[in-house]
Amino acid sequence: MASCTRKDNVSVNVNLTTTSLLSRFLVLFIVSSIASASHFTGGIALDDAKTRKNGLFPEILRDEAVARLKELGKVTDAEGYLERTFLSPASARAGDLIRSWMEEAGLRTWVDQIGNIHGRVEGMNASAEALLIGSHLDTVIDAGIYDGALGIICAVSALKVLKSTGKLGKLSRPVEVIAFSDEEGVRFQSTFLGSAAISGILPITALQISDRSGVTVQNVLKENSFEATKESLLQIKYDPQSVWGYIEVHIEQGPVLESLGLPLGVVKGIAGQTRLKVTVRGSQGHAGTVPMSMRQDPMAASAELIVLLESLCKHPENFISYDGHCNGFTAESLVCTVGEISTWPSASNVIPGEVNFTVDLRAIDDMARESVLFELANQIYQTCDRRSVSCVIERKHDAEAVICDPGLSLQLKSAAYSAMKIMVSEIQDEAPVLMSGAGHDAMAMSHLTKVGMLFVRCRGGISHSPAEHVLDDDVWAAGLALLAFLEMHL
Ligand SMILES: [Zn+2]
Repeated sequence: MASCTRKDNVSVNVNLTTTSLLSRFLVLFIVSSIASASHFTGGIALDDAKTRKNGLFPEILRDEAVARLKELGKVTDAEGYLERTFLSPASARAGDLIRSWMEEAGLRTWVDQIGNIHGRVEGMNASAEALLIGSHLDTVIDAGIYDGALGIICAVSALKVLKSTGKLGKLSRPVEVIAFSDEEGVRFQSTFLGSAAISGILPITALQISDRSGVTVQNVLKENSFEATKESLLQIKYDPQSVWGYIEVHIEQGPVLESLGLPLGVVKGIAGQTRLKVTVRGSQGHAGTVPMSMRQDPMAASAELIVLLESLCKHPENFISYDGHCNGFTAESLVCTVGEISTWPSASNVIPGEVNFTVDLRAIDDMARESVLFELANQIYQTCDRRSVSCVIERKHDAEAVICDPGLSLQLKSAAYSAMKIMVSEIQDEAPVLMSGAGHDAMAMSHLTKVGMLFVRCRGGISHSPAEHVLDDDVWAAGLALLAFLEMHL
């Protein structure tokens, strides 16, 4: 039996945008096999360093890095909380600060035409393919200080250590740190403006996206003295031939590393995502006069559908076969959420006529995601038939999963292990491998080059909140891991 597919062996890609109970499209798709990742066997760059922990640049990789995270965390557009959106005044100030830190670390800096900050060192061979390291400088509203900033600051700190030890010029390839101008998409509801432009997947039409007050991306770029033309946007794109790979350090934004008691983990891949809008229509009526047996209640039907979704996503093994060849798909890695619900007319004494709710479904394997969607659609329609209500499922958004490069991940795993050997007194295991349920710039960069990611433990798995916290020593561990990774490129 093919893996990642329905147990009844009906492989389907389901088009859910339908306006009728009878319109259910089944499209066969081709099963592809995906090689499983190899296991960690790599060397340990800092193996002997366990006994000289205090000599491992804590002043740069921990103390200064933490101080910089706190300093950057004060650069905000809002009074009393952290908010830095695309090309806002605070983003410009944050960019200047990051640029000054890059220059101090020996990097040549510039700002591109969409506001990304670049810092580059050519190393021994300026014409070799460059290693890119990045994360985002923008934030959500009422953000924590580590999301995005950690990846930028750790990279700059690791390169500053190389400068201090005289190794910066000995890198075998150019290394470039990029602080992306927009990942969170708060202002224009369009994520990855910065990294999508560099990877060449940002459409020219993005210039015309407008915020709530009608100001376009083009307006904002011009206000900030960027050209904001089709040509200037195209110039940002990197030639894939000039790039060796992209890595990103980011807080986990989840609780796994904390539960394992480890500061670092390697990211296997970033989950693919589908967003649905489900509309359930019934018979609107008087709450006091319509007998229960005669109702066509879309609210009660929606409640059943939401519990059905939860049940399907908790136990995909009931209808999908996966056997270790589905990009690491497991029941635990499948997440489904109903985050928004609305009813009409929404009055306490009225049986609703219509209920709408959203579904956010994420899985590391695209085929498994399609299989879940197919099963979900089938069961939703069956339930609606049984309840005599009409259901319409609209597919609003799809993003394919990104699988990190096995070779890059192996190097990151080795680097993380060497850092953890120093930081954690008795580490037995190799660095854990995690899936990312959240999107990252690495998703956009995967269209340009191979990508790898390192996750850093954060307290309680909390992020997008001022309660977001990373231990000072974990910032240090992340810096040591990046340093070990860079030393593989000397
Ligand atoms: Zn982030």
